[in-house]
Amino acid sequence: MSNKTLKKLLDERARLLAELGTLPRMLHGSWVERFSVCSRPGCRCHSGDRHGPRHYLVVHEGGRQRQKYVPNSQVDAAQAGLAEYRRVREIVDRITHINLALMKEDAYED
Ligand SMILES: [Zn+2]
Repeated sequence: MSNKTLKKLLDERARLLAELGTLPRMLHGSWVERFSVCSRPGCRCHSGDRHGPRHYLVVHEGGRQRQKYVPNSQVDAAQAGLAEYRRVREIVDRITHINLALMKEDAYED
């Protein structure tokens, strides 16, 4: 690998690491929307017009799945957070690729 190529990889890694700092809302989970039926007698929800949607993020906590309620006021931000997480994954995969290339050149720990 030429010094130029090596520098390109180190620069790209630095850019990607900096970009991680621009993704503060990242959320790792699955999005769920639920509609529900309440206990009020005669409520419209009993004839098919159910309440909702209510939004949840399914996350992993200590090896278990948990559904976390997301208030309506936070739905847009949370969905942006899910998109940010997808970018985090892309960045991590790319940095892994770069680091493996650097390892071959003995430049991994620079
Ligand atoms: Zn109801």
